[in-house]
Amino acid sequence: MKNGIVIIGAGHGGVQAAASLREEGFDGRITLIGDEAELPYHKPPLSKTFIKDAAAKPQILRAEAFYSGAGIDLMLGENVVRLDPAAKRIEFASGSAIPFDRAILATGSRPREIAIEGGPLGGVLSLRSVADARVIRDLSATVEDVVVMGGGFIGLEIAATLVAGGRRVTVIEAQDRLLARALAPAIAAHVGERLAASGVRILTGTTVRSIEGESGHVSAVITSTGERIPARMLIVGVGVVPNAELAQAAGLATGNGIIVDSRMRTSAPDIFALGDAARYRHWATGDEVRLESVQNATDQAKLIARTIAGHGEDYAAVPWFWSDIGDMKLQMVGLTGGSDRTILSGEPADNKFSVFHYRGGRLLGIESVNRPADHMLGRKMMGLGFSPDPATAAAGGDALKAALSEWQARQPV
Ligand code: FAD
Repeated sequence: MKNGIVIIGAGHGGVQAAASLREEGFDGRITLIGDEAELPYHKPPLSKTFIKDAAAKPQILRAEAFYSGAGIDLMLGENVVRLDPAAKRIEFASGSAIPFDRAILATGSRPREIAIEGGPLGGVLSLRSVADARVIRDLSATVEDVVVMGGGFIGLEIAATLVAGGRRVTVIEAQDRLLARALAPAIAAHVGERLAASGVRILTGTTVRSIEGESGHVSAVITSTGERIPARMLIVGVGVVPNAELAQAAGLATGNGIIVDSRMRTSAPDIFALGDAARYRHWATGDEVRLESVQNATDQAKLIARTIAGHGEDYAAVPWFWSDIGDMKLQMVGLTGGSDRTILSGEPADNKFSVFHYRGGRLLGIESVNRPADHMLGRKMMGLGFSPDPATAAAGGDALKAALSEWQARQPV
């Protein structure tokens, strides 16, 4: 492989792919390209801690010495604008081009943009990158009133972080409950109650009708019910769209992401895709999914490296995710869409409980609030393919561990 492997996108998945290729013994050329000027960094802290701490620095994924030490050509601040799968070449915005033998598309996703009546205005922001986080941090230090549009994970994390920093925060969510896309009603209700108790005003079943401004900067949000809410900052957190345009323009199969098979191979030979940008048929549910989590990007990167090294298997990692909202550590394992029965373990009043999701008696996943042991056990059980019966789930952690041990003892060696 004289031209080596190019990795487009230096986020969670791209950096892991570069590292895993070396761990798998690939000794050819690796070029890791990112359009951000920063050394690649962790995204999750941005909404949880970074925006409230003026002194916070981005948490880098790997030290600079890692890339040079591993012989990885790290090209930062470079935007790949064209991919030619037939000629096996990529082109940069600057006009230069490089050839490749294999390419990995790790381009991630970006916040969904929506046109709001009365806009565009300054102070209407979204959060994806550390550059966005700096803008939010700087502005939030000078304003009192913040409106967050969207009651999903990122919107609620930002709301909790900013209210803890003394801002007046209102969350406006179109659905009739928070976290409607992601979590069981019991957890969503709990999150809403605690956020409200911490001072966040939550309006569900409500949309932003328009915004008003002064001197080009947002000053108020008008809701669908006609209420006028003062706002010097409006954070739009209404989901993301995959960065699939490069692949689409190159003629690769796309549609809500870059379509990949069970080994993360795109429709073009020698081109892989992963992470937020990749859509695939999920091994457990059979549904077409595009998952947005660090785990998903990281595990897919490792699989691509194994596939290139010649010993890849079909993707079958158990999905998991976490979110920190105020004093709640939320941890999710499995895919719980389509559950027909839920079992509550623990007490919401203690701010420590889990919801086990079942379909037809089979465990689909577990959502936990401040119960990391349930989460870790869930990852273990689901990774092994063990589904405890609902009565055992209701009985708690010790019963689950005992049932798992018994089940393991019965498995053929
Ligand atoms: P990314 O990490 O987004 O990396 C993609 C990179 O590619 C970006 O730097 C992008 O700028 C670059 N790029 C795109 N196109 C090009 C191009 N043409 N040329 C060059 N470079 C390009 N997940 C969790 O599991 N738990 C959490 O608590 C959590 N919190 C989050 C909080 C925030 C604020 C955000 C934004 C995300 C959070 N996530 C969380 C999601 C998680 O960060 C993503 O799922 C993960 O980063 C996906 O990895 P990726 O490699 O697919 O994409």
